[in-house]
Order: sequence, then structure tokens, then C-alpha cells
Amino acid sequence: MRIGFIGLGAIGWHMARHLTQLDATVMVWNRTQRKAEAHAAQFATVAVDLDVLVQADFIFSCLPTSAEVEAMIAAHPPQSGSIWIDCTSGVPCSAQQLSHSLKLRNIEFLDAPVSGQTIGAEQGTLTVMVGGDATAFERARAVIQAFAGKIEHVGESGAGFAVKAINNSLMAANLWALSEGLSVLKARGVNLEAALACINHSSGKSTMSETVMPQKIMSRRFNKTFALHLLQKDIGIALDLIAETQQQGRLLHAVQQLYAQTDRQTAEHVDFSAAIQVLEQSHQVLLN
Ligand code: NDP
Repeated sequence: MRIGFIGLGAIGWHMARHLTQLDATVMVWNRTQRKAEAHAAQFATVAVDLDVLVQADFIFSCLPTSAEVEAMIAAHPPQSGSIWIDCTSGVPCSAQQLSHSLKLRNIEFLDAPVSGQTIGAEQGTLTVMVGGDATAFERARAVIQAFAGKIEHVGESGAGFAVKAINNSLMAANLWALSEGLSVLKARGVNLEAALACINHSSGKSTMSETVMPQKIMSRRFNKTFALHLLQKDIGIALDLIAETQQQGRLLHAVQQLYAQTDRQTAEHVDFSAAIQVLEQSHQVLLN
């Protein structure tokens, strides 16, 4: 079995590593080639040209947006009989189009975005939400399992991307709501560590209160594992879904406006948790 992995970024780097547990040759490609060479040296993968990689039986991609994936497939078409598994947090209608056009050439396309942060990728416990052909999903399941803690086939092409966009919008809403709440408590003179200890044993807890708030914001580290511009993209995809389904999405529209306060150029260079610094500035409070 030959497996190819395209995009050794913050999350793809670890995902590709886990594939080497399988009885397979794992080929890797990255735009910045030295990263692929470093991956090969560290994990016994094989750094190859794209034209070689797309001859694999299973091809994974994990790129910033669907636009890069579309360009990649157009320039380097995979071979008949293969399955392209796109772990990018992408656009549902792009998955539908790619799936349709590749099927005509006997190639399956699964949208298979992931959740669980870079720590989940490191530990091989990511949640993978898969959209696309059910038979192709069954063929790919054992390969995806290499980096997954949970795999769920959520529907037809595009369904995986849709679930991911909504998940990340909920994450953004949770983080902002938590930050507003803690800002009020800080102004009221409450110790935030004690407040968070209570919240994390109560109904208001979330992944944001359990990990991101203490580890990134209250610690003032804001260490970059997931760029803010990627979260802004995900919220944008959710809003497009809201428009498509003719719903109001009042809360998610507000979430988009709150996170859009950080300009695109800054957002490329900071972690998503840094969005909360805008709130801190306007409330003149530090969440520590
Ligand atoms: P990074 O920015 O860390 O990595 C992006 C990867 O895409 C790099 O390998 C980069 O190559 C490559 N790339 C960028 N532009 C191009 C291009 N035009 N052509 C070819 N390759 C390109 O992103 P992440 O790894 O954080 O995210 C990747 C995807 O996974 C995104 O869709 C994101 O939303 C999603 N995601 C991220 C999570 C996280 O915690 N980081 C969690 C869950 C999902 P190069 O090394 O040359 O820059």
C-alpha cells in the first residue's frame, strides 16, 4: 500500500507521522521542501515530488483552504482507483464539485477535516468527520484510524466540512463568551483561577475553559498552534452555510464580527487565542 501526505503544517506534520504505523510506504510533500526532508529523516517517511506522490493509493491533503487543494488536484491529478482524503478545513461545495469531477475518472474524494488541536494530532487522537461515498469511507477508515481517536461518517460530500465549520464557530463563540464572563469577574475583584476551577466543575465548562483559557490566555503565552486567520476562515464557511440554508444565525454573525476585529495580516501570524486581546483592550482588563 502506498500513502501520500501533502501539507506538513502545524497539524499535518504529526498526522503524517502516525501513518508510518501502517504496513505502507508513506510519501510526503510540503511546499517548503526542507520540512518534507526533515520529516523523512525523523520518521522514516519518503520525501518525493508531487507527481510521484499522486500515484499513491490513498492521498491525504492538509492545506489552509479548499483553494489550495483544488489547485493541487488540477495540476497533479491522482491515478484511477485512488482515494483523495482531504483533511483541510474546507468548503462544502468545493468537496461536492471535486468529488463529482474525480468520480468521473474513478477517483474517490472524501472531505475528512479533523479536530483536537495539535496535541490531538501529536497523540493520534483526532476526531475525524468524514463526508462522501460510504464505500470509499469504509476502504479509507483503517488508514484514517492511524491518527484518529474518533471517526464518524457524517453524510454525503461536503458534510464533513460543514460539521467542522460549525464546530469551530462554536469553539469561537465559547471562547469569546468565556472571556466576557471572566472579564466581568475580574472587574468584580474575583480571582480568575478560582473562578475557572469552579466553572470547570460546572455546566459552563468547555474545551476553551479547560485548556485554552488557562494554558494560552491566563498564562499570557498565546503560543501559536492554530492561526487566527484559519479560524476566521472557518467562521466564514459557517456563515456561508447559514446563508445557503436561509437561516438567521444571529449569534454566529456576531461571532464573525468579533473575530474580524483582528486584521487579516495580523491574524496570519498569531494564535486564535490572541483574538481575545481585542476584548482585553476594550475592557481595559487582563485575563490573568
Ligand atoms: P499551517 O499554516 O501550519 O500549515 C499549512 C500547510 O499548508 C503547510 O504545510 C504549508 O506549507 C502548506 N501550504 C500553504 N499554502 C500552500 C500552497 N499555496 N500550496 C501548497 N502548500 C501550501 O496550517 P495548519 O496545519 O494549522 O492547518 C492546516 C489545515 O488544518 C487548515 O485547514 C486548518 O484550518 C486545519 N486545522 C488546523 C488545526 C490546528 O490546530 N492547527 C486543527 C484542526 C484543523 P509551508 O510549510 O511551505 O508553509
